[in-house]
Amino acid sequence: MPSHLRTYPNRSRWVTLAIVAAVVVALVFGFLVFYNSRTTPVSADTSTPIASAGATNAASNPGESTKPPQTPSPASSPSTQPVPTQPPVNPVTGRVDTLDGLVPDYKLPPIENGMVPVITKIPTTQKVVFLTIDDGAVKRDSDLQLLKDNGVKASLFLAQTFIIGQPDFYQQYIKSGFLIENHTISHNLGFLSLGYAKIKAEICGMSDFEEAHYGRRPVLMRPPGGPYSNAARQAAAECGIKAIVDWEAKANAGGMDYQVGAGLRPGDIVLMHFRPEFPADLAAFLTAQKAAGLKVVLLEDYLGVK
Ligand SMILES: [Zn+2]
Repeated sequence: MPSHLRTYPNRSRWVTLAIVAAVVVALVFGFLVFYNSRTTPVSADTSTPIASAGATNAASNPGESTKPPQTPSPASSPSTQPVPTQPPVNPVTGRVDTLDGLVPDYKLPPIENGMVPVITKIPTTQKVVFLTIDDGAVKRDSDLQLLKDNGVKASLFLAQTFIIGQPDFYQQYIKSGFLIENHTISHNLGFLSLGYAKIKAEICGMSDFEEAHYGRRPVLMRPPGGPYSNAARQAAAECGIKAIVDWEAKANAGGMDYQVGAGLRPGDIVLMHFRPEFPADLAAFLTAQKAAGLKVVLLEDYLGVK
């Protein structure tokens, strides 16, 4: 048979097959669209396929970059009224802390060989910075107001010699969520050469004084001027201190001084003082903190110590 007589019916068969296939595909697609529209949530505007895929990723990879999971809408809770959220109280510290949901990735080393650890920064890449304010020589309500206006909390390392006449001035700091720590009794810059018994008396005496006046025993201690020794670390441990805290950067004379580099880094502990230039120092700190994109967190909250 000549080939041209065979090809014609073959071609028509293929055309028919193509039409049938197209109809089948259209039916399947139509069914899928219909089924999808019946099974996806109606109210939420997150019901697009893209949002669903995102939610799936979030569920299977509960990592860092995703936002806190939105409340899934289980079928068992028909009334999904948002419950007004209280600020979370940290179960360890008992405080409404400054972490704002951040989970610290650092744990304070334990006391070893009877000596507290010494920290000048927290080794973390989390975008946090810690402010500490020392001595207590200048006492002005306006300084606390500045801290409050800027939403900044700090650990206050006070020495008895600076606050003995007016310890109650710092009660308002405590009410505002600041914590008071140990900077010794006399702020003696020759502290380390005093001998163990006197070093211990300087530390334990200040812890006793602060516990009596403020109702909380300090957990952190800063030696006058910063230098420390094994004897100081041991005495601190015996007084109930958990760490000696020095610093990586200072807000000083209206500017910033850095031990390393030219800006604040994640985890840095910053030193300031209650001095006449407090407003300028705080402004310098805040400028550096914002430039570095760091959140000011209370050191004790990050360390999870009471
Ligand atoms: Zn000091």
